[in-house]
Amino acid sequence: MPASFSVFKDETRLDINYVPSSLPHRQAQLRFLHQLFRFAIEDPGEMTQRVLIVGNVGTGKTVISQRFGFDITKEAEKRKINLNYVHVNCRECKGSLFMILQRVILKFIPNFPRRGYSAEELLQTLMQILDERNTYLILCLDELEALIRSEGSDPVYSLTRVQEERLNAPQRLSLLCILREPAYLKELDPSTRSTLQRNLIHFEEYSKPQLQDILNDRVDLAFRNGTVFTPTVELVAELASMEGGDARYAIELLWRAGKYADASNMKEVSPECVRKAATTVYPVVGKEVISSLNLHEKLLLLGVARHFKQASTVYMSMGEAEDAYAIVCEEYGKKQRGHTQLWKYVNELSALGIIKTELSGVGQRGKTTYISLPKIPASELEQELTKALHTKRR
Ligand code: ADP
Ligand code: MG
Repeated sequence: MPASFSVFKDETRLDINYVPSSLPHRQAQLRFLHQLFRFAIEDPGEMTQRVLIVGNVGTGKTVISQRFGFDITKEAEKRKINLNYVHVNCRECKGSLFMILQRVILKFIPNFPRRGYSAEELLQTLMQILDERNTYLILCLDELEALIRSEGSDPVYSLTRVQEERLNAPQRLSLLCILREPAYLKELDPSTRSTLQRNLIHFEEYSKPQLQDILNDRVDLAFRNGTVFTPTVELVAELASMEGGDARYAIELLWRAGKYADASNMKEVSPECVRKAATTVYPVVGKEVISSLNLHEKLLLLGVARHFKQASTVYMSMGEAEDAYAIVCEEYGKKQRGHTQLWKYVNELSALGIIKTELSGVGQRGKTTYISLPKIPASELEQELTKALHTKRR
């Protein structure tokens, strides 16, 4: 294998700003957005709209609104309607209406002077530009909490009022707001709040299978054939669903795991690469936790760690864990504890967040407990445990 081998064929497809053409599990939300804004391509100028998307981090709020923006402006173009979609992140604009409006105006007039205007004047200027160019605008205010936090309800209020003050003039400015925390709605004036609540689209957190679908698409786009297999995708999805169904974390973890594989000259992104990558995103289980375990918990965990260091699967059964534990006991010259006792240890380790346990799914005969090691690289855990056991022995 040449030294320059990479598991990636196109890393940019894992970039946070990349907008994929396929967006699994969000088609209903996309359709609903198009429905709410249908007037913009059918009767532009007759009305405007205010819509709110709410959802946790990594639920696709940003990417879906951008996809919507591309699609609706393309449709408008076909119909010879001047419709613009401008996506502004309020946090990047430091929660300032002035900066937000400046960004919007710069899209239309790239050399617009950056000084000498108030926010109120910029808003009037924007409306004037839209009139002069006979253009309609859907303004997306992403991470709206930043704007509300620093300037209260006034900015959103002015953005909606500016239409109403223009009697008999065409309606030009619609808002698509994005919030993570719906509690911020309370801060808005009653009329804006009730409109937004009527047009609220909630994005649920992704489930593990949904995350797997999203990840599989990205694997095809970003990685070379035969470098990422199902167990790896499954583990990434598992970890991301534990982090609240966060697709951003999932994609970042996949990318880091690939980077790790490249750095270690591997030709496959194994589950162990994912565990390694996970420790760079989240803190490792502390050494104190490991050394606080009792002797047989350590021995059991060492068996588990050794198993996962070898295996390319994500789960091991309770039976396999017992076997691995037996081998370790023999090596350390310790008498094995009974089945019931091991159960208690497994529960304890799971409560500490070191391992994860799951009952086998329905349809399978009998119920077996499956153990996974989602957060800690097995090799590091093994090292840590060997050290801890060695100290003890002395
Ligand atoms: P949010 O804005 O809700 O925090 P993003 O829209 O930034 O989340 O999504 C996070 C990451 O996950 C982005 O890389 C995005 O492309 C990806 N993503 C989210 N939902 C989907 C989906 N349904 N299909 C494909 N990729 C998705
Ligand atoms: Mg976002």
